Amino acid sequence: MPNKSYFILSVSILIAGLASAIAFAIQNVPVWMFVGIAILLAGIILLIHWSTISYEWQCEECKTTVQLTMWENVRGLNVGVNRKYLFCPTCKKKVTFRGIKKTPE
Ligand SMILES: [Zn+2]
Repeated sequence: MPNKSYFILSVSILIAGLASAIAFAIQNVPVWMFVGIAILLAGIILLIHWSTISYEWQCEECKTTVQLTMWENVRGLNVGVNRKYLFCPTCKKKVTFRGIKKTPE
């Protein structure tokens, strides 16, 4: 699946989940509201997965590029737009990395 359609799909699921959660909350149907929240969470997870496979990270000191796992992507501390504070295997310390969008297939 091309990365762009994957992104659009994730965002659509997220919005659909959010909209149904709100709609069922207003109508006071808690069971379906939780289904909406579950869909919303699925959308968020898909979005995190999309960002994991779409970006690689470059050390700002030694220019080493790394590919994060999904968990590292979640755990990595964001410091500004497209910047993460991560451990660099080459520098052997925590430094800032810059997110680089991979060229779409
Ligand atoms: Zn480095």
